[in-house]
Amino acid sequence: MKIAFIGLGNMGSGMALNLHKAGHEVTGFDLSDAAKSQLAAQGLQVAASAVDAVQGAQAVITMLPASEHVEQLFIGTAEQAGLLAILPAGCLVIDSSTIAADTSRSVGAAAAARGIDFLDAPVSGGTAGAAAGTLTFMVGASDSTLARAKPLLEAMGKNIFHAGEIGAGQTAKICNNMLLAVQMAGTCEALALGIANGLDPKVLSEIMRRSSGGNWTLEVYNPVPGVQENSAASRGYTGGFGTDLMLKDLGLALNNAVKNKAATPLGTLARSLYAAHSLQGRGAEDFSSIIKMLQKPV
Ligand code: NAD
Repeated sequence: MKIAFIGLGNMGSGMALNLHKAGHEVTGFDLSDAAKSQLAAQGLQVAASAVDAVQGAQAVITMLPASEHVEQLFIGTAEQAGLLAILPAGCLVIDSSTIAADTSRSVGAAAAARGIDFLDAPVSGGTAGAAAGTLTFMVGASDSTLARAKPLLEAMGKNIFHAGEIGAGQTAKICNNMLLAVQMAGTCEALALGIANGLDPKVLSEIMRRSSGGNWTLEVYNPVPGVQENSAASRGYTGGFGTDLMLKDLGLALNNAVKNKAATPLGTLARSLYAAHSLQGRGAEDFSSIIKMLQKPV
């Protein structure tokens, strides 16, 4: 299939390469020249603009930071029309960015008006999952649109869940990420307490991983440098899931909670913790660096 992939960052780079390896004809685009050069060096065709990338594409996949990027790309701005104005009817659009469900619904409605099939398909699994092609997709779409997208999603992921109609994938994603934010903060708090008592973080991590405190962060995303070889912490908190992206997701979750009069005490506290961490200048660092807030500076 001829695919345009837009947004070749920490996640999009691995996802685009997996589609390329699966035999699809992928053209990538990113605003960052560095991201484009990195992917071109690995054999991916890259374009000079998003408009160039989508020429002749049967499917467009996006992996962008936030709602405003997706809205501007597809719907456009006062000065410039978005991609929906030039994509042919029958084109398939998969947005895997984590954005507001309302934005997915408005982009989906604008796509439907032009005969374009849209699905929100945010992911979980981190950069390791993106590189390995083992992501979990949470899809919001009609049955028929999901059936069209499935072969592409299967080239990038292992678990594909149909959460409901357009927007439902995003709702599932913010619930998951609110839980992840709380788990990471709690895991950091427990590890910091153990370290302050002289425990070896590797030993303590293993004890908790195999005990009732075990969770995904201890399995694959340990926040202490050196405990796991391939963690973001062991790479100086780079190349993972940025604190500011987690802060965005917690904002989406809390906006939704306000709208639905839902009680989210731990999510609210987690948002404040990540916001304070970002204000300390750590917004670009991986979100597991929240452990620095809970330890004496080294
Ligand atoms: P990232 O910042 O590494 O990558 C985003 C890329 O989009 C950047 O390279 C940026 O230059 C590019 N970009 C921005 N606007 C653009 C535009 N208009 N046209 C083309 N390119 C544009 O972010 P990421 O970590 O890859 O995350 C992407 C999305 O996936 C976010 O919504 C994030 O919340 C979500 N997500 C991330 C992870 C993770 O572990 N990093 C996991 C699950 C979901």
